[in-house]
Amino acid sequence: MIKGDDMILNHIQEGMMTMDKKNVDWANLGFGYMKTDYRYVSNYTNGAWDEGCMTEDDTITMSECAGVLQYAQTVFEGMKAYTTEKGQTVVFRPDLNAERMIDSAKRLEMPPFPKERFIDAVEKLVKANEAWVPPYGSGATLYIRPYMFGINPVIGVKPANDYQFRAFATPVGPYFKGGIKPLTIKISDFDRAAPHGTGHIKAGLNYAMSLHAIVTAHNEGFDENMYLDAATRTKVEETGGANFLFVTKDGKVVTPKSNSILPSITRRSLMQVAREYLGLEAEEREIYKDELKDMAECGLCGTAAVISPVGKIVDHGTEICLPSGMSEMGPVTKKLYDTLTGIQMGRIEAPKGWIHVIE
Ligand SMILES: *Cc1c(COP(=O)(O)O)cnc(C)c1O
Repeated sequence: MIKGDDMILNHIQEGMMTMDKKNVDWANLGFGYMKTDYRYVSNYTNGAWDEGCMTEDDTITMSECAGVLQYAQTVFEGMKAYTTEKGQTVVFRPDLNAERMIDSAKRLEMPPFPKERFIDAVEKLVKANEAWVPPYGSGATLYIRPYMFGINPVIGVKPANDYQFRAFATPVGPYFKGGIKPLTIKISDFDRAAPHGTGHIKAGLNYAMSLHAIVTAHNEGFDENMYLDAATRTKVEETGGANFLFVTKDGKVVTPKSNSILPSITRRSLMQVAREYLGLEAEEREIYKDELKDMAECGLCGTAAVISPVGKIVDHGTEICLPSGMSEMGPVTKKLYDTLTGIQMGRIEAPKGWIHVIE
């Protein structure tokens, strides 16, 4: 091929790849809100959800006395759309987000948004904002935030009658910008969730009450809080927004079992990856604070980072240094991370139903 043809070909290919995409510096995006073009809205009135629609309006007008504003009747979800190696736009296990939001809604006496409707809303949202889905290899993803809230006036304490379900999308940057740095976390003096409370649902109320604890931890120089079980303060629960996963010194993957932690989809997926792809033993069981010193590796699991390694846990001045150290992920954590991100990005074959292609 002569040089001129080559250049034209490159030009066309580049055009094809960037033609649809927004002019965003994907690699340098942080985790913040950026207004995209379309969002999905559905309203619940007179005991039924309407058919829903896409809108360009990013604002919400509601009564000053709306249930969500007075008594925090709201639940949410978080998930990602991204471009695979083959160039498909996909979402990871949205069926589990749909089911979890139904569980969350029921616990706050809200009308569940049906699973098929949830998945349909996510599909419509991603399709409408296709230009905002970051390209493969950029490290960035399109974060999807479905949520619902009580919208009619509520002053006597009771559930609202009317609700709104919305889903918006915002591009977010690579979580580990400038390399993966293990975190230093503290065992918090605050509790996150009561036994028989709401720790197992994805509700804003669990986050509102964690804000003081996380600001305190940050002011003290820690990256995150490790919360213990509120009843005995002897067992590991989770952080404000991620589940724990540990690797024991004999190479077993363990994660805390508790009724007051949020069932992370990332953590559940990683446990399956550990068993089925890596041939490791993986167990969900109660984990005592006293066992921390015997762990080989520790990571935080969630949609945002998949796994963030923890290098050090501080318990009121006593440092527990994980053998994996402060400069890199531990070897098992790394394998788990590489395998799950490989599955997500289409480089490794996924278990059936994990990758939801947006056609
Ligand atoms: C969302 C969330 C997680 C992570 O769940 P994923 O489904 O993996 O994103 C963990 N803990 C809490 C408290 C959460 O709200």
